[in-house]
Parts: sequence; structure tokens; C-alpha cells
Amino acid sequence: MIPYGQHTLTEEDIAAVVEVLHSDRITQGDVVPRFETAIAEYCSAKYALAVSSGTAALHMACLALDVGPDDLVWTTPNTFVASANCARYCGADVDFVDIDPRTYNMSVESLRKKLVYAREHGRLPKAVIPVHFAGQPCDMRELAKLSAEFGFFIIEDACHALGSEYEGKKTGSCRYSDIAVFSFHPVKMITTGEGGMLLTNNPEIHKKVKRMRTHGIDKVKGGEESWMYQQRVLGFNYRLTDIQAALGYSQLKRLDASVAKREGLATRYDKQLQTLPLVTPYRASGRVSSWHLYVVQLADKSPIGRKELYQKMHRDGVGVNVHYIPVHTQPYYRELGFHDGQFPRAEAYYSKCLTLPLYPSLHESEQDHVISCLSNYLR
Ligand SMILES: *Cc1c(COP(=O)(O)O)cnc(C)c1O
Repeated sequence: MIPYGQHTLTEEDIAAVVEVLHSDRITQGDVVPRFETAIAEYCSAKYALAVSSGTAALHMACLALDVGPDDLVWTTPNTFVASANCARYCGADVDFVDIDPRTYNMSVESLRKKLVYAREHGRLPKAVIPVHFAGQPCDMRELAKLSAEFGFFIIEDACHALGSEYEGKKTGSCRYSDIAVFSFHPVKMITTGEGGMLLTNNPEIHKKVKRMRTHGIDKVKGGEESWMYQQRVLGFNYRLTDIQAALGYSQLKRLDASVAKREGLATRYDKQLQTLPLVTPYRASGRVSSWHLYVVQLADKSPIGRKELYQKMHRDGVGVNVHYIPVHTQPYYRELGFHDGQFPRAEAYYSKCLTLPLYPSLHESEQDHVISCLSNYLR
């Protein structure tokens, strides 16, 4: 089966991990800080903090912004559930903003309308979590304008988007946001097995998250009582290990080459799928996608439906996938009162979308097989 996404591991990656295994410290050593510095430098952000997953990073982001039970957090329905769950962990209410039909990212226009309505009704969100879907950055300049006008924080869920660029700057620079979050799950741009990173330019946020990821504890430096530590708030153990950080650090060296490889394959798809009844990805100007995913939509004139195409492709050994089931239609969110029809663009998109295999080690011959299967069923 050709999967839709796949990590790449080199002998160098493995050697980097083994080196840590042979050392004195397999966690809380100096490899995590080295990985953090490398990511912060890559993204031109002041601070980067490694945590145990992208989800943990999202949770920490909400906590660092004091999101609590009386607050409201908005995100997009076209995302993985973690983008919404992080606010629920803090007891906050969640709501969604429908997507832009071209980029499949949160629609800036819908957001503006919803904000105006929310202001009239006295319940503005404390934070908005845009997701750079498939690796294509959201229109951050416009989002930042709205943030200034309506007074909400921005947490970028950049789990798809390490290596992408907006206005010539890498995603993660936090130029237009308070916090950006990455995931290092194996299907993402680089991997640590499980892992994540939180980036910010704000020293207060940095200090809070650093404390929160280790139980809320501060080390007390110097003095005669050198055993001393103090727990100041209720925190978590969300640390990344040095074993994992070594893998991430090694993988980061190949990130730009991986993005270039994905871009080449994406362009190849664009060209070869042109004559089929498919909507290929829209490339917004001023943005460089990291191409985490290559998503097509079945055009209205497609001879078969998405479900049927999905099944046929799987039978042919092509592991196409679907991103995403709109979060508000999940049973947990229905239980909270959400229902079908609330975010019609995300729902319409979901009924027609299909994620094709795309990863750096995908061979052109494999990609050709994917394309010929699609041609078979759609011509
Ligand atoms: C993967 C992902 C997450 C969660 O990251 P984990 O590292 O798996 O916890 C959150 N949001 C989006 C958009 C993701 O793709």
C-alpha cells in the first residue's frame, strides 16, 4: 500500500539517537535545548519550547494566554480535533469559523462577520486558532488586523506548516501571532516519534510555558539548599526527551530539501491531474506551502463519488485519506450542541475531498500509479 504520508529516517538520524542512548542523560540533557535553539533560529522566533506533542503545545498555548472556563476560543472546523480540544481542556467554550472555499483555511471574511456579530452580542473570543491547512499559511496579516481591532490572541496551529513561508518569513516567526505550534508526529514535516514545539516572541509566555511543562516547578538556583525546588502553579509533565530531540534535530537538517521534494511532486500532480474532474490545490500569492498534504476535491462532473473513489483506490493499493471530518460533527461536539449545516463550506468540502499520497520518499513511479488509478476511475 502506498500511504498518504510517510516519515523518512536516515542512518544519520538513527546514529544521532543512538548517541544519546550511549550518553549519561536520555532526558533533560542538552539535546532538547539544542533542538529548541535550532527551531527558533530556523523560524526567526525569540523562544521555542519543546513539548511531548503538538496537542500538549496547543494546551500550553491556551494556558499561557489564561484561557479559562469563562472564555471562548474559535478555530476552523477543517482541522484535527486537537485544535479545538485544547480550549476544552481549559474549560473554555469552543466555536468555529467556516472555511475559505479556495484555500480551505479559516475564512477571513467569515471571521470578520462573526466578530462583528459577537461584539454586538457581548461575547468575543479570547483566542482564535487558525490552522495552516495542508501547509499553506493563512492570511496572517489580515488575521492580525482583526486581532488588533477586536482584541483576541492568535495561536497559529502550524502543525502542518513547518518549513512554509508567509511574506518571505518562515511560519513560526510569530510576526503576526502570539504563539505558533508545531507537531512532530511521523506524518508531519519532521518527526520525533511524538513531540511538539511552542514558539513565541513574548518573554512572559515563554516563562509560563517553561514552568508549566514541568509540573509548574521552578528550580531555585544557588544557595545552601541546592536540593530546593518550588512548585508555583499546577503544571504538567509535557517534556520531550533528549532521545526524541536528537531525532528532531537531525531531521531538521533535511527539512528544506524535504519541502522542495514535496513541492516538486505537488507540481507534478498539478500538471498530470489537470484534465481530470478534480479541483487541485489553490496556491495563494505571497505564500510558500510546506506541502504537508496534497488534497484534491472531486468536481461536480466526476462520474463517481468520493466514497467509491476512496474504496477503489484502496483496492488498488493507494492509501488515499480524508482531511478532515469537520470537527463540529464529531459526536463529542454534537453533544455540546453543534449540528450539521452550521459550517456549510467545510461540510461541502469534506464531502468531496481526498488526500493523495505525498511525502519526500514517494517515487515518481509510485506517483504515476496513483495518477493512472485516478484516470481509470474518473475518465
Ligand atoms: C497533528 C496535528 C495536531 C496534533 O499534534 P500531535 O503531535 O499529534 O498531538 C494538531 N493540529 C493539527 C492541525 C494537526 O495536524
